[in-house]
Amino acid sequence: MRTLGELELRERTVLMRVDFNVPLAGGQVADDARIRATLPTIRAVLDRRGARLVLMSHLGRPSGAPEAGLRMGTVAQRLAAVLGAPVRTAADCVGPSAETAAAQLGAGEVLMLENVRFHPGEQANDGRFAARLAKLGQVYVNDAFGAAHRAHASTVGVPALLPAHAKGAGLLLQREVEELGGLLARPAAPFVLVVGGAKVSSKIGVLRSLLERVDAILIGGGMAYTFLAAQGAAVGASLKEEDAVRPAAQLLDAAAARRVPVLLPDDHLAAIPPIDTAAARRAVAVAAREIPDRLAGVDIGPRTACAFGERIASAGTVLWNGPMGVTEIDRFRGGTQAVAQAVVDSPAHTVVGGGDSVAALQALGIVAGIDHVSTGGGASLELLEGRTLPGVAALCG
Ligand code: AMP
Repeated sequence: MRTLGELELRERTVLMRVDFNVPLAGGQVADDARIRATLPTIRAVLDRRGARLVLMSHLGRPSGAPEAGLRMGTVAQRLAAVLGAPVRTAADCVGPSAETAAAQLGAGEVLMLENVRFHPGEQANDGRFAARLAKLGQVYVNDAFGAAHRAHASTVGVPALLPAHAKGAGLLLQREVEELGGLLARPAAPFVLVVGGAKVSSKIGVLRSLLERVDAILIGGGMAYTFLAAQGAAVGASLKEEDAVRPAAQLLDAAAARRVPVLLPDDHLAAIPPIDTAAARRAVAVAAREIPDRLAGVDIGPRTACAFGERIASAGTVLWNGPMGVTEIDRFRGGTQAVAQAVVDSPAHTVVGGGDSVAALQALGIVAGIDHVSTGGGASLELLEGRTLPGVAALCG
């Protein structure tokens, strides 16, 4: 995989895939972290003499046709503000409007194409659509780590049309691949994996593959209840994925066979469903592993947070993905915040992925204390499962 520094970009038009799939609220960019994460690559391209930059991204989930609320205009405006330079826009991502706008770019100028998912050819990885995109630049750079696990036209179709010397990785994509790859290759021991969030099924793959490499697994959040159920514990009305109980039991057996300790919650904060702010006011502490019938576990309790914190403090490497409780509700954020603080305070090499975990760090203003914050949820999990990401493979060879 060629790095940015190895590509000839001078006097070239660079077609760059970015992940500007940012959250919107009221038609405005609600969080520009993904835009900021790509700035170093954008600046590095524009620093090359005579380089012109054409950016492409998807935004939201349009059904292969234009959707007014998902136009790239507001994203381009925010990019212009954080970049401190004008950003042009085009009415489409392919065809005459895009081609004219790209051709009119001067040295050091930036063009943001319209949402690539306004065309069905993007997700279908249609060859003709990819060729229309490829026309817009002479060199292709992919900095969209968050989209690298998708085999779409803008991530795979375009680079497949180009020779090796005309395509490469942006700085963000390169850093993600190196950081997460490094976790698989040479983690400092003890390697502690902390997982939470709602679904066992979305994380069982990564748990299985990392089992060979980790020294301890700490499980919190809603998914912990499926694991507790797999051990035969009563979990009351807590979230439980029936289909995942068996896989969870198998994982616990495999961990026991390898002598990898799996820590599950030992105490909880619990409430009567439905879990909303009214339920939060009547939440109760459950100072035992088992949860009474009508209650649902909504956060790890203080004893669990303490036990998790001790493991994290003595780790050499910590990988954390997923909240310890229902963090959408203030009162159920304590466990996640305690884990966030423990990860930051740990002398270990720390890597955090997943929107809710990163949001907890941001809310506490301690995100800078993490060695690597991954920008790609699905992509980082697939990479850690040991799978080859199509968007990365397309840059190689
Ligand atoms: P994920 O996308 O799998 O990382 O899951 C994040 C979601 O897990 C958030 O929306 C949380 O509200 C949810 N979650 C965390 N802990 C619990 C819990 N104990 N019960 C129900 N949902 C939870």
